Amino acid sequence: MHTHDVDQELVDAATEVARTRCQGDRHTMAAAARAADGRIVTGVNAYHFTGGPCAELVVVGSAAAQGAHDLETIVAVGDRDRGVVPPCGRCRQALLDYFPALQIVVATPDGLRAVPVGDLLPHTYVWADHQLDAPSPS
Ligand SMILES: [Zn+2]
Repeated sequence: MHTHDVDQELVDAATEVARTRCQGDRHTMAAAARAADGRIVTGVNAYHFTGGPCAELVVVGSAAAQGAHDLETIVAVGDRDRGVVPPCGRCRQALLDYFPALQIVVATPDGLRAVPVGDLLPHTYVWADHQLDAPSPS
């Protein structure tokens, strides 16, 4: 697929993990994130009927475990050659709350595009804005 201004190395990393590590029905999606320091962190989902995490959330935790607390771009790729898959609603909300400036690579009719996470959540609920007991910044 033809791409514009997209982090192709990141897409390739997720694609490679999806192709080589997603075997069976427990791991069906791979994700890769570019951290602010330039490194790429990858992960796969841990499917379970109790609500196992999507690949994007596994990447967030894995990145933190490696000391990468600021992510700039993320992409998820499905197994069995499904290509780039957009994040589910839960991940959109979680990613926005963790990384408000995050870019997400999505497939469009014009090819892959990186879009701000906020663009995937119109009329966004911002969790931090509703923590009324938090100390005020004044
Ligand atoms: Zn998800």
